[in-house]
Amino acid sequence: MKLVTTRADLRAARNGPAVFVPTMGALHAGHARLIERAAKDSAALGLTGGCIVSIFVNPTQFNDPADFARYPKTLEADLDLCRAAGCSMVYAPAVDDIYPPDEEVPTPPLPEVATRPGLEDAHRPGHFAGVCRVVKRLFDLVRPAAAVFGEKDWQQLQVVRAMTQQHGLDIEIVGEPTVREADGLAMSSRNRFLSAEDRARALALSRALCAAAGEKQPPAAEAAMRRVLSEAGIIPEYAVVRDAATLGPPRGGGVCRALIAARVGDVRLIDNAAFVQRHSETASALGL
Ligand code: AMP
Repeated sequence: MKLVTTRADLRAARNGPAVFVPTMGALHAGHARLIERAAKDSAALGLTGGCIVSIFVNPTQFNDPADFARYPKTLEADLDLCRAAGCSMVYAPAVDDIYPPDEEVPTPPLPEVATRPGLEDAHRPGHFAGVCRVVKRLFDLVRPAAAVFGEKDWQQLQVVRAMTQQHGLDIEIVGEPTVREADGLAMSSRNRFLSAEDRARALALSRALCAAAGEKQPPAAEAAMRRVLSEAGIIPEYAVVRDAATLGPPRGGGVCRALIAARVGDVRLIDNAAFVQRHSETASALGL
């Protein structure tokens, strides 16, 4: 596995088309799954570039400077994880390599799915502008055939898909399911900041998503999520059911997603799961 830290070295070391996994480091088993998928896909497709992982804590997507300042940096352990997961090359640039002081790096126009009321943009203004800017920049530098993103950041996955389409980029966007701890907590680089008590309370997020899945219609599912969260003393930023692709209001019969964001202690957590609408007639016909 190669490690490069500059655009010039990336360009020189690049060995043809690759599958790309952008990350901010502090890697865990969720990231490993994305890297394993990328390595497998690149081998199956015979892509000579293998799997390329970027490790870059992108300052422009943090709307909270304290969150940026304390974001964990664990490069040596990250490199071990990348190697074990089958990565061919890691690109770990400094901020100036991505945003050179003498070069304008444009922020692409935000797709509609990024600004749906009540979701991430309402609580982290500017976040998706930063995400789109860095992902477009990384895509231009790495020029991958495909890129793998986690369903854990469901809205981000839809935003990246939409942005890729908007720019007519010939990059396949692949989504990988969320990797969880044995007790259901979605893995996140920020989980390490939870106190033992908050770590236990944080389980309410995955429990709330399970409760939602037991309901037939979005309003009942949203009420179930709020109830489970409130029992754990958590007031969510949002706990909603939306159309899975557009993140607009659920359409009758369409594929939906239940999405939650909440602060537990001083850690902001997000999680989501598929939500299948069941109309009462269909449900009773199915004996539900
Ligand atoms: P991050 O380093 O947090 O920016 O995440 C890099 C990529 O890993 C993103 O595509 C995330 O959606 C994905 N990711 C983060 N946590 C998980 C998880 N628990 N399971 C699957 N993918 C994840």
